[in-house]
Amino acid sequence: MQFAKKLSEWVKMALEAVFPSNIYCICCNDFIDSKQLYALCSSCMHKLHWIVESTCPKCGKSVEEEGLCLDCSASHRWFEKGISCVQYGRLEKEVIHRFKYRDAAYIGCKLAQLMAERFEIENLSVDAIVAVPMYLKKERRRGYNQAAVLAKELSREMGIEYINGLLIRTRDTVPMSELSADERIKNVKNAFTVNQNYYNIVEYKKILLVDDVFTTGNTVNECSRVLKECGADSIYVLTFASGVGK
Ligand SMILES: [Zn+2]
Ligand SMILES: [Zn+2]
Repeated sequence: MQFAKKLSEWVKMALEAVFPSNIYCICCNDFIDSKQLYALCSSCMHKLHWIVESTCPKCGKSVEEEGLCLDCSASHRWFEKGISCVQYGRLEKEVIHRFKYRDAAYIGCKLAQLMAERFEIENLSVDAIVAVPMYLKKERRRGYNQAAVLAKELSREMGIEYINGLLIRTRDTVPMSELSADERIKNVKNAFTVNQNYYNIVEYKKILLVDDVFTTGNTVNECSRVLKECGADSIYVLTFASGVGK
């Protein structure tokens, strides 16, 4: 196992030497100086919609007026707080798309650096990192779960354990973008469970739940609900991007 891990690290290093990945911007794919922070060119660094102020105090989405967003006022949130780096606009969608379908490991590493720095500002402590799970058949088809890629990289950045397989998606769900508000809640209801081998890990723990994008928050809310039912003390949700709250 250890040997296989070392070998894959070595292969990665060898590939990196032949095809360096840090010479392209993770956003627009233009050539960049390899020392550029987070592998973002200066133009994309300025164009990305960083979330700075006027956020919903519960889910962390950008809001026009101070206070809870509509989604958070309308439904119970099982997590303590949501934290995101950027608003989910056109450019941000492109980054996520590249991350999901091309060069996942490399872009994931850069996104996780940004997410770790964003989380640090909150001055919160967590005991374990968990990813929003993908339905196993889907993960096998795609080859990886992008949330797990981010969670693993965050674990390395933050020095906090990532617990792979703690949450399980028990059935496939329809992409949320195709559904109405009511359908979105039903779509993820009872779609997750905590792996019973990890019950003792969840109890009384502060958990950092990781995903790539936060839209309505129904998915992470349902994950948080099952974690809380297993005795989790608190849940913080960290995503790279989040939609704008109404
Ligand atoms: Zn760029
Ligand atoms: Zn909110």
